[in-house]
Amino acid sequence: MNERQMALEALRYDLRERLQLYRTHQPHEGETAPPGDNVMDQRATHVAQELARVEQALLRIAAGEGDYCGRCLMRLEGWQLTTDPCATLCAYCEARPNDDV
Ligand SMILES: [Zn+2]
Repeated sequence: MNERQMALEALRYDLRERLQLYRTHQPHEGETAPPGDNVMDQRATHVAQELARVEQALLRIAAGEGDYCGRCLMRLEGWQLTTDPCATLCAYCEARPNDDV
């Protein structure tokens, strides 16, 4: 297992813990969450999205594609993976998500 995988595994563990925390959080008795302002739900959604990215990255690594851009197949730069271990696109594709290749 390389450093990036270890970072991702740690991140996945952390995100799962947080998600669990948000999902099990119940308002105290007599307390009601303000309608349309459920911060806990928004946080849980955000964490779930992050978790999905991490799992996607781990799947790609397991398939041997983790070091390559998911779109143009360029090799991902080391600095990019240090900044964001979940990165699945090269800096070029990341900056231009709507261009056709
Ligand atoms: Zn690319």
